[in-house]
Amino acid sequence: MTRYRALQDQALAANLEIPRRGLAMYTFGNVSAFDPALAVLAIKPSGVAYDELTRDDIVVVDLEGKVVEGRLRPSSDTRTHIVLYRHFTGIAGIAHTHSTYATGWAQARTPIPIYGTTHADYLAEDVPCTELLDDAALAGDYETATGHQILTCFRGRDPHHTPMVLVAGHGVFTWGASAEKAVYHAAVLEELARMAFITLSVNPETPRLSQSIVLKHFERKHGKNAYYGQTGVDSADHNVKAKS
Ligand SMILES: [Zn+2]
Repeated sequence: MTRYRALQDQALAANLEIPRRGLAMYTFGNVSAFDPALAVLAIKPSGVAYDELTRDDIVVVDLEGKVVEGRLRPSSDTRTHIVLYRHFTGIAGIAHTHSTYATGWAQARTPIPIYGTTHADYLAEDVPCTELLDDAALAGDYETATGHQILTCFRGRDPHHTPMVLVAGHGVFTWGASAEKAVYHAAVLEELARMAFITLSVNPETPRLSQSIVLKHFERKHGKNAYYGQTGVDSADHNVKAKS
């Protein structure tokens, strides 16, 4: 029994949600759970299929990327997770997927327009999309560069209010106050992407939802006087601020 067992259990449970929610096949995707007090994250090992994953396979890594527990290699995307934990203070879980509809928008390098209240319940803007990495970034540490590509996209944004991003030409990263919440946001993002795709198919000229409806929906769930759901359920998730 180690001090990391609870964190590994959280990471395992959240990773197993990925195939269960239809967000990835084979070994695609990964989730991490972060413990700010211990300054370590527990993450899926590289190249292990979800149906074979056990708690002992979950790798624990410090913020320098050094493995502190586990016998497997951590996900190849670990350094992207580390960049986000270092800069998005207050988040404690990150999910990365190539889920079909959201990745379609990422490959089209197009933010997902805010067409309806389902979207506005989760974020009050289009789902942002990063720029493509340039050749210089590709030549260096690709996964760290991917993290910085996301930070650049989040200049002037609050990562708590917008807990998701499309990475151009690649897939998605989502996050939250726990690994479970990060996967929840990955599932929400896939549904928003699918709805927006259908909306454009029905009417390519569909305008964005008006800002007053957007704010009404976002505020009733996330604002100071939120009244959606049961008191206090969502509030723990609202302390995230970007450091830079
Ligand atoms: Zn990927």
